[in-house]
Amino acid sequence: MGVVSIQSTVSCDGCGTHFKVDHDPAYKPPAGWSLFDVAEDAVRGGYVLGSSLFDGSCSVQNGSMLCIPCTRAADRAAAPGGRQE
Ligand SMILES: [Zn+2]
Repeated sequence: MGVVSIQSTVSCDGCGTHFKVDHDPAYKPPAGWSLFDVAEDAVRGGYVLGSSLFDGSCSVQNGSMLCIPCTRAADRAAAPGGRQE
């Protein structure tokens, strides 16, 4: 039996909601990376486990790991002429 799945549960730095990101068991992280680095990289990759492409993506912005709604809010705020909510 091989490793079937590896996941990280991440607490959003914006709202505290927990969400999960998936890791490819065959992925070889660069030398010196901690598991935290691997999890952060997966958050940067944007795919939230259990969500669809249309739900949006998670992200790392200004060093904060953000869930889908907080990523949307941050993207809106950063967009030229974007509005804050
Ligand atoms: Zn959030």
